[in-house]
Amino acid sequence: MKITMKPIAELDGDEMTRVLWKQIKEELLQPFVELNTEYYDLGLPHRDETGDRVTLEAAEAIRRLRVGVKCATITPNAQRMEEYKLHSLWKSPNATIRAALDGTVFRTPILTKRVKPYVRGWVKPITIARHAYGDIYKAVEMKVPGPGTAELLFRGEQGEERQEIFRFTGPGILQGLHNRDDSIESFARACFGYALGRVEDLWFSAKVTISKTYDGTFRAIFQRIYEEEYRAAFEEKGISYFYTLIDDAVARVIRSEGGFVWATKNYDGDVMSDMISTAFGSLAMMTSVLVSPEGNYEYEAAHGTVTRHYYRYLKGEKTSTNPVATIFAWSGALGKRGELDGNAPLRDFAARLEQAVLDTIEGGVMTGDLASLCRDGDVRAVDTEGFLRAVRERLEA
Ligand code: NAP
Ligand code: MG
Repeated sequence: MKITMKPIAELDGDEMTRVLWKQIKEELLQPFVELNTEYYDLGLPHRDETGDRVTLEAAEAIRRLRVGVKCATITPNAQRMEEYKLHSLWKSPNATIRAALDGTVFRTPILTKRVKPYVRGWVKPITIARHAYGDIYKAVEMKVPGPGTAELLFRGEQGEERQEIFRFTGPGILQGLHNRDDSIESFARACFGYALGRVEDLWFSAKVTISKTYDGTFRAIFQRIYEEEYRAAFEEKGISYFYTLIDDAVARVIRSEGGFVWATKNYDGDVMSDMISTAFGSLAMMTSVLVSPEGNYEYEAAHGTVTRHYYRYLKGEKTSTNPVATIFAWSGALGKRGELDGNAPLRDFAARLEQAVLDTIEGGVMTGDLASLCRDGDVRAVDTEGFLRAVRERLEA
């Protein structure tokens, strides 16, 4: 008898990952689970046909059903506009969904004993949470042509406030940044909630020694929300929250053994998440989950649509594209569905699926990208289908 479940939102995507999507469902999910999904086709042709309405509908479905799983999608650029004869340069679906859910993105590497991180001490995953609003990503900038005085001016309902920035004696540059308390509060709650769910410590880093008001506000909001809403729950689970300077955090991360959630400001998270994923081994082994303050979850792989492999696939070649992060997107979503509904068989299946993937790799069967990272032991590099078949055999055993 197949496992039954309440519905989740299923967001299909593009290119090689769309091919993987179908294979994963047929080989690893449908034989075991009576898959119950609301299907939204976010493939670029269908986004174009619907004027991107399908992306908003999908975001609405995630909010309603509380759990979604998303395939990688193309973010169109000029070249894609030509390739797909698009009516418009549609926005990144991830940006649209993130804005609709007011969500925070958490990225966690999948560790196996075979692929050793570049940092020898890391034995547990490091999850990085990036505040995806404001700072330099919403900055206004100006070139200063010559001598003059730059000021910060705020025109409020109660009057004006101004402060001198700098008296220029020659040409230079200027930048204006902002953030919003409500966005920082949502970010903080998402981070505390996520760390509680993983039962891991939460670190938050910024630069309050230099930026006393701006970064200081981030720090104060995190501390207030922790004291008022999360301290008791953290203490009950035996985990802790602390703030530390970004410089200190970077040094500690390298010396750590992993096993914590690192909350970062927008720019720090942008840069550090690339460092963390590379240092753990491979982008194809990085999962990503978008969490909204109301507790809605969207799971996906951190990588893109693997275009180069897709063009080879279209020529009829077999590719060794790594499906692991996409499988874990599904197991993450099914596991969360099971957790929210108290559906133990579904939760167990999600855990068994992940274990079967890890056992397959540890048994030496893996896609080409991982084979090249393995340092010792027997390794058999297989194509995607060979890998999925090997996982299926373990799942059935
Ligand atoms: P990408 O699809 O992540 O691929 C970059 C390269 O990384 C690939 O060519 C491949 O290297 C390697 N790679 C990534 N995932 C792999 C996997 N699962 N198995 C094996 N190798 C893997 O990034 P991109 O080429 O920059 O972007 C392609 C498209 O994806 C773009 O249209 C972009 O808009 C979109 N994108 C979507 C998302 C998302 O939906 N979340 C995220 C990023 C990018 P080799 O070719 O050397 O084997
Ligand atoms: Mg980056």
